[in-house]
Amino acid sequence: MSHSQPDALRSRLEAVSERVVRAAEEAGRDPSEVTTIVVTKFHPVELVRNLYDLGVRDFGESRHQEAREKAAALPADIRWHFVGQLQTKKARQVRTYAHSIHSVDRLQLVDALDGADDETEVFVQVDLSGEPGRGGAAPADVPEIARRVVSARGLRLAGVMAVAPLGEDAEPAFRRLREISDRVREIDPDARRISAGMSGDLESALKEGATHLRVGSAITGQRPTAP
Ligand SMILES: *Cc1c(COP(=O)(O)O)cnc(C)c1O
Repeated sequence: MSHSQPDALRSRLEAVSERVVRAAEEAGRDPSEVTTIVVTKFHPVELVRNLYDLGVRDFGESRHQEAREKAAALPADIRWHFVGQLQTKKARQVRTYAHSIHSVDRLQLVDALDGADDETEVFVQVDLSGEPGRGGAAPADVPEIARRVVSARGLRLAGVMAVAPLGEDAEPAFRRLREISDRVREIDPDARRISAGMSGDLESALKEGATHLRVGSAITGQRPTAP
């Protein structure tokens, strides 16, 4: 598969890195404070390994079984970011390998994750579309979920996460996310991370304060269809 060859991956990785530096600087921000998570869902382990060899350490996955298999097959210094919709009954298993979970969007999920000895970082996922069902809490519900995370054992509130809604400019949507982030920081001043921005809209996200980008196809090449 030519798209996963190291040379092609390296040049796409560099191109995205240049976009990040340029957009961060235009926004008056320090590019070194931005984490780019490479989303490798549906891609084989070999592609992740090639990216690892190029120096990538932050990877995003959206399905528990696939993520667990990759985590078991690859070096332990990888930080796995779980970015997909998460079933309550699988929550505790995801904790075993995930450095952070970006998709916490309801109280039951916080309760399912509560009570571990080691610490997992969680983002409260916000639905910016107003159309329930695609993951994410309604903005009005975010403070309560954030407070529940803060009081849970073994969870650290990192901040907020969102996907830009379809059919709307990303920038005003990410601006709303930033306002929600401000409210979350009133609950926990350390929860200042914003996970937003993908291949097509990372510039808008950086403009509106994103600290964690989740970039897939711009780095990996076209995704295979879901297995
Ligand atoms: C797949 C996915 C991404 C990456 O999307 P690209 O458009 O390929 O960059 C980011 N975030 C989430 C939640 C995803 O599921």
